[in-house]
Amino acid sequence: MANSKFEYVKQFEQTDNLLPNTWVVVRIDGRGFTKFATKYGFEKPNDKRALELMNAAARAVMAELPDITIAYGVSDEYSFVFHKTCSLFERRASKLVSTIVSTFTAYYVHLWSIHFPDTPLSPPLPSFDGRAVCYPTVQNLRDYMSWRQVDCHINNLYNTTFWALIQLGGIDPTEAEKTLKGTYAADKNEIMFSKFAINYNNEPEMYKKGSVVFRDYELVEPGTHNATIEADSLAEPVQQSKTQAENDKKRRAKAPIVVQHLDIIKDDFWDRRPWLLS
Ligand code: ATP
Ligand code: ATP
Ligand code: MG
Ligand code: MG
Ligand code: MG
Ligand code: MG
Ligand code: MG
Repeated sequence: MANSKFEYVKQFEQTDNLLPNTWVVVRIDGRGFTKFATKYGFEKPNDKRALELMNAAARAVMAELPDITIAYGVSDEYSFVFHKTCSLFERRASKLVSTIVSTFTAYYVHLWSIHFPDTPLSPPLPSFDGRAVCYPTVQNLRDYMSWRQVDCHINNLYNTTFWALIQLGGIDPTEAEKTLKGTYAADKNEIMFSKFAINYNNEPEMYKKGSVVFRDYELVEPGTHNATIEADSLAEPVQQSKTQAENDKKRRAKAPIVVQHLDIIKDDFWDRRPWLLS
C-alpha cells in the first residue's frame, strides 16, 4: 500500500452518497443542442434519426447497468431510474452521474454513423450534462415520470403547430410565435386541422409520448396482481418466496431491453409491469 505525505489530500473528498432506500433518477441533457441540431440539419420539429440515436444510446446504457429499472427520453434528454435498493458505487452521486453521462455520450458518438450515415461528426462534439435526484416514494417517482411526459406533450404540441405554421403556412418564426401566444391545446389542434389538415392524434407516438426503455418481461393482466401477492404472502413460507423472487430477478435481468412509446402517466403501464417498481 502506497503511503505518502501527500495522501492527506484524500480527506478533502466530500461524501455524496445518495439517501438510501430512495429511487434515484439521473437525468442527462444535451449541451447546446439547439445549435447542435442546426449544425447537423435536424428536421424540425422532430428529427426521427436523432431521437432513434438517443434511444439506441439509452438502450446501451441500460444493458451495461442492470441496476437501471426504466428510462424515459424526449428531445435531447434521458432520465434513468435506479431501483431504490441499488447499491452501485455505494450510491455516490458523482460516480453514478458521471458513469451514466460518459457511457451515454460514448454510445451516442459510437452509434452516430448508423443513424446519420451521410453526416460525419466533427467538433464541437456532442456532450451531455447530468444530475441525480432522489425520490422517496413510488408516487413521487411516478409523478417525476409524468412530469417529463407531460412536458413532452406540451412541447410537442406547441412545436408541431409552430413548425406547421412556418413550413406549411409560409409565415416567419416571429409571426408564428405571435399566432400561438395565449392559445390553449384545443386552439393548436384547431389551427393544425383547419389550416393544414393535420390531425395531431395521427402524429407518430414517439413524438407525442417520448420513449420508454425497460426490460420486457411477461405482462400481468390488470387487476390480478395485487390479489395474487396478498394471497401469496399469507400462504407461502418466506423462504420459498425469497427463492422465487431471486429467480424472477434473474429472468428479468435476461429479458430483452425494449424501447416503446407508451403512456406512463396512467396506471395501466405500471399495473401491467408490477416488477418495475416492486
Ligand atoms: P442546454 O445546453 O441548456 O440544454 P439546449 O440548446 O440543449 O441548451 P434544450 O432546452 O435542452 O436546450 O433543448 C434542446 C434543443 O434541441 C431544442 O432546441 C430542440 O428543438 C433540439 N432538439 C433535440 N432533439 C431534437 C430532435 N430529435 N429533432 C429536432 N430538434 C431537436
Ligand atoms: P474503478 O472502476 O474502480 O476505477 P479500475 O480498474 O479502473 O476500477 P483504478 O483504480 O481506476 O481501477 O485503476 C486504473 C487501472 O488501470 C490500474 O490498474 C492501472 O494500472 C491501469 N491503467 C490505467 N492507465 C494505464 C496505462 N496507461 N497503462 C497501463 N495501465 C493503466
Ligand atoms: Mg440543460
Ligand atoms: Mg439541452
Ligand atoms: Mg433538453
Ligand atoms: Mg478506474
Ligand atoms: Mg483510476
